[in-house]
Amino acid sequence: MSDAIAVKDSNSDARCIIIGASHAGSQLAVNLRKNGWPGEIVLVGAEAQLPYHRPPLSKTVMAGTKTLDNILLRPEAMYTSNNISLRLATQVQQIVPTQKRIVLATGEDISYDKLALCTGARPIKLPLGDGLDGVCYLRSYEDVKTIQQQLADKRRAVVIGAGYIGLEAAAVMSRLGLQVTVLERADRVLQRVTGGQVSQYFTDLHRSHGVEIVCDAEVIAINGQHAVDSVSCADGSRYPADIVIVGIGVTPETTLAQDAGLRIENGLYIDEYCRTSDEHIYAAGDCTSYPDARYQRRIRLESVQNANDQARIAAINICGGRDRYQVIPWFWSDQFDIKLQSAGLSDGFDDTVLDGSLDPADPEGFVIQYLREGKLIAADCVKRPKEFMALKARI
Ligand code: NAP
Repeated sequence: MSDAIAVKDSNSDARCIIIGASHAGSQLAVNLRKNGWPGEIVLVGAEAQLPYHRPPLSKTVMAGTKTLDNILLRPEAMYTSNNISLRLATQVQQIVPTQKRIVLATGEDISYDKLALCTGARPIKLPLGDGLDGVCYLRSYEDVKTIQQQLADKRRAVVIGAGYIGLEAAAVMSRLGLQVTVLERADRVLQRVTGGQVSQYFTDLHRSHGVEIVCDAEVIAINGQHAVDSVSCADGSRYPADIVIVGIGVTPETTLAQDAGLRIENGLYIDEYCRTSDEHIYAAGDCTSYPDARYQRRIRLESVQNANDQARIAAINICGGRDRYQVIPWFWSDQFDIKLQSAGLSDGFDDTVLDGSLDPADPEGFVIQYLREGKLIAADCVKRPKEFMALKARI
């Protein structure tokens, strides 16, 4: 790390390029300045918009109660005043680590002293319904604009996948007056992110609002001529649909890194200092997998918390520090009037302790603690913000 310290000391010509201008990229740029990066900072993003908060997309933006201006991560003036060059609507085509330069799709070549990859993740596509009007994915602001156009005068929606995206979108469309069916391949909703009790709670919540939840549903076709008209499952069932939202997960965006020969291991491999297999290249956010001391394995997280916290650590280390990424993951989801707050990772739990009520109509809410060999490893909370904070600290 000695070269990074040299950069901090003197080299005001040093250039750090950040690829990816979302939560991690924007945070990293700002924190580079805070930590004393003396030279140029170039933040390159494929999307045309200023970096914005992604969580509201499947909530208030889709519902039409917030606009892009309401969800910007930082005002444009902040980038200017910190002397951060924003290169939006710009695709990076190649990284050449041996020559420490990147090549843009325009052919433009930019050299770097340090590079940070914050390329995020992209939605997994179903090989069904390609080109049919009304089949939508939800990851970007443009995706939500498309969904909103598609939603006009629609009555019946099918959501494929009951993760956060699927359930949040289902709640919004139900509130907008559509008749919504959610088709989930697993035997319960939210099974990738929580335990069975919380899955049941959210199934009950959605059903109480008239959303149809169908688990063990294997989608085999999305039907229609020009526009979607129905979705078929392997058991012969068929669900009429004027609009379909597919939320079946994401895959880390590692194409550039892989082509550049960087180590890939369930995402872009980084060490505890957020450094990739190339000493001049760091990474943060959904695209990475990192070694977690607490859970004693490599972990790939898809969350805003992870993007922000890894970006802070990467910025410190790019500027010559030596901080480790050691945090407790936490998440939240808003569906109808309910906020789920989760801390830690519950997989591998062998016992749970429930305090409160699993009836969505009960104003008391609940706390579920997940234990492994008697030790608290994670917690899910509804309507218990203080207990959430306390449990997060305890974990
Ligand atoms: P997700 O959480 O991975 O959930 C996808 C769900 O779709 C899984 O339950 C999966 O079941 C199911 N599925 C997969 N293939 C299917 C198929 N062919 N038919 C029916 N169901 C299928 O992913 P997501 O909801 O799409 O979210 C994408 C990303 O956005 C995640 O990173 C998520 O954390 C993030 N996000 C977060 C929030 C939040 O934190 N509140 C909100 C929105 C989005 P199997 O496991 O059986 O494949």
